[in-house]
Amino acid sequence: MSGRLDRRVTTVAEDLLRRKRVVAPLDVLTGLGWLGSRSVQSWELGREPQLDSLASVAPDRLAEALTLLHEWAAANGLLRSEVDYVAATRDRRALRFSRTGDPAVELAFRTQWTDPALTPERRAKLTQRQAKAPDLVVISSDKRWTCSLCGATGEFHFLEDDKPLCLDCADMGHLVYLPAGDAALTRRARKASGLAAVVARWSKSRKRFDRRGILVEQAALEAAEEQCLADGELRERRKARDRVRRAAQDVEFQAEFAEHIRVLFPGLATERALAIAEHAGTRSSGRVGRSAAGRAFDENAVTLAVVAAIRHEETDYDAMLMAGVPRATARERIRDDIDRVLARWRRPAT
Ligand SMILES: [Zn+2]
Repeated sequence: MSGRLDRRVTTVAEDLLRRKRVVAPLDVLTGLGWLGSRSVQSWELGREPQLDSLASVAPDRLAEALTLLHEWAAANGLLRSEVDYVAATRDRRALRFSRTGDPAVELAFRTQWTDPALTPERRAKLTQRQAKAPDLVVISSDKRWTCSLCGATGEFHFLEDDKPLCLDCADMGHLVYLPAGDAALTRRARKASGLAAVVARWSKSRKRFDRRGILVEQAALEAAEEQCLADGELRERRKARDRVRRAAQDVEFQAEFAEHIRVLFPGLATERALAIAEHAGTRSSGRVGRSAAGRAFDENAVTLAVVAAIRHEETDYDAMLMAGVPRATARERIRDDIDRVLARWRRPAT
């Protein structure tokens, strides 16, 4: 029995080594047909407590295959490295492989093997790629969902501890959607954006999540478009997007909202107040400005819109989230900064 498994592991591992120059336990188990890519994706998204209960074989069988893999790698003089696996969740928590959490078992899953013929630079790059924190993932879904914090719904949601959050509650409400299709634009926008997320959608036919586009900061998208502007087609695209944006804006409502901001925060420049109101009041967004309270210009709703703007524009909040700082911790760290800016804006400009 073990002889047969030995041959199967060797075949899969040799194929991986030839194609990728690196052999990771996860790829071997997938290659053996014991783990589906759907299960692995779901685990990577932080939706499963551990990986081994998703396999089609028992944990001791998985352990047996990993032992055989390690023996094969050692016999072939491959170089070992340990890789940290982190979830594509806001807190970038370490992913757990086994129900028992036994350190030796976890280590076996995290150990990968590289071709000794690779230069040290190539090997470092391969290991780095594996160790890089995965992209934050936002789900585009046509199933009904409601935000676990505010009860809103919308086009995109973010999963935190397996509960859906609307983009506003996930502090991504200021990001704009860039559909996939223009690789250069996507790459530039992603690079220029402090906070960014990949939009994924479940494909029934392919039984996996497909990338549909990215969410980036509007300024980053515009900067990326500038860089691509040699291409006249993009000029047209931006015009079309501006038209859509203008159509979605309830100009009167925003002007009124800006007035209320200026009453509470006289230290804020008119232009800035308008920008905040415009963002808070964009139609079809579930942002605070469109809620019933925002409509009535409730003081609290107005302040919330201002706080959201401060968080993204005046603090390191987004950078902390990108670096994997949990949301609650990040919010705690910037609280004083927000209070300081609020106090400054409450005073009339001199
Ligand atoms: Zn929400």
